[in-house]
Amino acid sequence: MNRLNFIGGEFVAAASGKTFENRSPVDGRLLGLVSEAGESEVDVAVKAARAALAGPWGAIDMAERTELLYAVANEINRRFEEFLEAETADTGKPASLARHIDIPRGAANFKIFADVVKNVPGEFFQMATPDKKGAINYALRVPKGVIAVIAPWNLPLLLMTWKVGPALACGNTVVVKPSEETPSTATLLGEVMNAVGVPKGVYNVVHGFGPGSAGELLTRHPGVDAVTFTGETRTGAAIMKAVADRVRPVSFELGGKNAGVVFADCDFDAAVEGMGRAVFANCGQVCLGTERVYVERPIFDKFVAALKAKAEGLKPGRPEDGKTGIGPLISKEHQKKVLSYYDQARKEGATVVTGGGIPKMEGELANGCWVEPTIWTGLPEDSAVVREEIFGPCCHVRPFDSEDEAVRLANDTQYGLATTIWTTNLARAHRVAAKIEVGISWVNAQRLRETLGPNWSPAG
Ligand code: NAD
Repeated sequence: MNRLNFIGGEFVAAASGKTFENRSPVDGRLLGLVSEAGESEVDVAVKAARAALAGPWGAIDMAERTELLYAVANEINRRFEEFLEAETADTGKPASLARHIDIPRGAANFKIFADVVKNVPGEFFQMATPDKKGAINYALRVPKGVIAVIAPWNLPLLLMTWKVGPALACGNTVVVKPSEETPSTATLLGEVMNAVGVPKGVYNVVHGFGPGSAGELLTRHPGVDAVTFTGETRTGAAIMKAVADRVRPVSFELGGKNAGVVFADCDFDAAVEGMGRAVFANCGQVCLGTERVYVERPIFDKFVAALKAKAEGLKPGRPEDGKTGIGPLISKEHQKKVLSYYDQARKEGATVVTGGGIPKMEGELANGCWVEPTIWTGLPEDSAVVREEIFGPCCHVRPFDSEDEAVRLANDTQYGLATTIWTTNLARAHRVAAKIEVGISWVNAQRLRETLGPNWSPAG
């Protein structure tokens, strides 16, 4: 299906007529053409967002606004299967994954942040004044303005709404630039906004690429008040430079090279299960995923063998096939990048425990962006394979002999997103979780999230 920009409540093609192809990572087939926004579409979108701020969106109160966000969430759920189909077509990920994570959480983001914003406490400060009467200073929370949302492709709806939900809940308006790899669900969301009566111009979508295209045009636009971005660290650096001249605030969620630490006293089966998900889920394309696994020496061989069995049990296939355990990577370009690390690991003398190449796929699937789930051992810690984010279904596993060594290895990285620690020793769990320098430490869990209530099922 062809995808248009969504500006001021209307679906519009770029005046230049420029389009780019959206291809399936599963079999390379053309899914549709996407209209590439140019300078004028980005400008009109930002102006539409500004006009909505000054107009109907700025005029409604918080209760009305949060009701609308609830309606957005409900409408996504009502059209759940359409969102699911669009997301799995763009990404190739197993439908079972998108059904349980991407779409319900994408919807939930509107409800969650509507709830949060109603409960954000205010601040006040008592002042002493010369006349002894005193005074109160207080902080009033007001919308920031027009927010540019630059989103990645790995969990397109979920990560985009994770930004759009809070921005709208706080009374801002947004111009979204979804990833060029996954234009569909952001576009569908435009239909949802119109259907539930979100005023025109509150939510806008411009399609295109990063440098020299809609992404850069948007971040450089003088009418943008703040930029929120999820993606690669070096893209974050480029965006920071782009907004520096106008000193606009940024909010970034960037890359990772996360460590998992498995102690010999862990619940072995749970650790293998959890680490299997941490490494291979979403074909390894998760910022919070694990690419460095440290295992205490007494269980090292047994653990590597069990993780190998997990990897080899993941059947590649089409999203809708219930037997599919792993999807393709997002694109040929990304496949090339991941395979270059697979080659490098071999050249550096890694022991390839499993994988290391492209799986043999039949028929049209042979045109997809597949790679094998891969496990290495035996690489030095200064190998690029161990230091750089690969963003594929792969990990290096290394033994350790002491708690201190495990912490030192885990912390030896420029990144600091997340870790997952497996042990039945409670004191050690707390100690190690505190010492590993990350934003989030999971203990005996990985990517554990609040359970979504029954209302968040597709039928809800
Ligand atoms: P990316 O940085 O290549 O692209 C992300 C978005 O930025 C896309 O929409 C792209 O078109 C746009 N973009 C690229 N260059 C730009 C520029 N100069 N100006 C403006 N926009 C530009 O990232 P990706 O490949 O889509 O996503 C994968 C990366 O995202 C990984 O590094 C991953 O770790 C990271 N990520 C982080 C989190 C997190 O929460 N920390 C979550 C998901 C993904």
